Amino acid sequence: MSAHRPFSPQTNTMARPGVEVGPSHILGEWSPGVAGPLTIISAGMHGNEPAGVLALRRILAYLQENNVATVGRFVAMAGNLTALGVGLRYVDRDLNRQWDKASVDRLNREGPRGYTEDIEQLELLQDFEQLTRHHLGTVNLLDLHTMSAKGVPFIVACDTPDSTWLAHQLLLPGITGLEKAIPGTTLEHFLAQGYRAVAVEGGQHQDPHAVDLLEACAWMMLLATGVVQEAQVPDVEVKRQILQDEAQGQPHQVAVRYRHGIHPEDGFAMLPGYKNLQRIRRGEVLARDRTGDIVAPQDGWILLPLYQKAGSDGFFIGV
Ligand SMILES: [Zn+2]
Repeated sequence: MSAHRPFSPQTNTMARPGVEVGPSHILGEWSPGVAGPLTIISAGMHGNEPAGVLALRRILAYLQENNVATVGRFVAMAGNLTALGVGLRYVDRDLNRQWDKASVDRLNREGPRGYTEDIEQLELLQDFEQLTRHHLGTVNLLDLHTMSAKGVPFIVACDTPDSTWLAHQLLLPGITGLEKAIPGTTLEHFLAQGYRAVAVEGGQHQDPHAVDLLEACAWMMLLATGVVQEAQVPDVEVKRQILQDEAQGQPHQVAVRYRHGIHPEDGFAMLPGYKNLQRIRRGEVLARDRTGDIVAPQDGWILLPLYQKAGSDGFFIGV
């Protein structure tokens, strides 16, 4: 779907070269005609995270070039097309923070408020509705992301057997409770729609390895949901090894217990050197803001420490 997108980039975020994605949120799909599962993999809900888009393009190209006889339907989606084009996390609003029920209901009722991300979201809602309308079984969704900090990649799951099972299949540490700590993510919406959904935070935004990692993760998703068979995944053991190497020595599952929310006027700055899923101790100074030191309120693992300017989550602590 195409629509007029007002462009008014934030001034507080460094623009990076974007990735060209075209006018459609559907990057491509592969369904050779055998009925079966529906698996949707989305990327680029944040426009400064092009790795997922590149990973999905590799998979689509491989399936097409090798005419792979998959089962069911695989659809690759791109989230924030405008922000991807200019390499910004978002243009007016964070697209991955406005999927709570109240926001979605208002958007459906009243239409876009003039923000770029409202238009993007409305198009996505319509595309998802069309894609899933005639599908009778469970819809599977994996949402691909990357992080501003270096550190261990992980799966964002919710605390249900379905979701934690899927997280386990993707071979990375599973973090539960983030969907409650971060209101308005796509996960919140699509879980409420009855999807079997997880997200992955796969490496640092600019790290070329993030593309390999997200590609490996996406293949495991297609395998776990029955779209492809083991023998159809190119270098399946290499793909597994990429993920297992990352997960080596890491906790299997972590539950989020604390979120340090921030506002632009706080002057929040993480102390340098924190990595995702790094062990921290109660009382340790993690960051500073206008009021002084910010200390860890408990022992645990630090999650998603913020090293970019745009964002409303300083860090999380999981146990
Ligand atoms: Zn993201």
